Amino acid sequence: MKHSDCAPIIAYIGLGSNLAKPVVQIKSARIAIASLAGVQELAFSSLYHSLPMGPQDQPDYVNAVMGVATDLLPMELLRSLQHIENEHGRVRKAERWGARTLDLDILIYGDQEIDLPDLTVPHKGLAERSFVLYPLFEIAPQLLVPGKGPIADLVAECPLSGLRRLE
Ligand code: ATP
Ligand code: MG
Ligand code: MG
Repeated sequence: MKHSDCAPIIAYIGLGSNLAKPVVQIKSARIAIASLAGVQELAFSSLYHSLPMGPQDQPDYVNAVMGVATDLLPMELLRSLQHIENEHGRVRKAERWGARTLDLDILIYGDQEIDLPDLTVPHKGLAERSFVLYPLFEIAPQLLVPGKGPIADLVAECPLSGLRRLE
């Protein structure tokens, strides 16, 4: 059964960019996500500046988190976000966590825990990443992260690691 037969699901999407004017990429991605059929924007965090994970020979990142209500199934949402990444010039390279114009990750999909070959939700890195937790906490301070507990507790355990608000 499609979710269109049910109440929409509240999902949170992590946005990141460190190439080709990151702030422009993030703002453009926000519009593209909100324009998807079956997706409605509920909230958008401040923009944050963060230091790269993994390879250090790349520019710093701009990150944000967006809350949406969606009728899309999890894999439909993932494919739609990957399409938007591609439209923003995302080139997939072998190197993990390399520079990219746009990264769109599904952080949370309702209260669901999903373990598919192409999709793990809540996102695997969520509890360790300040650039995900702090913007998520900003727009959803009461959130219970499925399998992990209150967002406030996760934030309290996570050092900023150089994260700062841009606006
Ligand atoms: P990370 O997932 O550690 O943040 P990344 O975002 O750089 O790394 P990508 O190259 O964007 O990784 O995606 C690699 C694969 O991760 C995708 O092909 C996708 O199928 C898979 N994936 C698994 N779970 C998720 C999720 N929750 N959101 C987005 N992609 C996911
Ligand atoms: Mg990512
Ligand atoms: Mg990704």
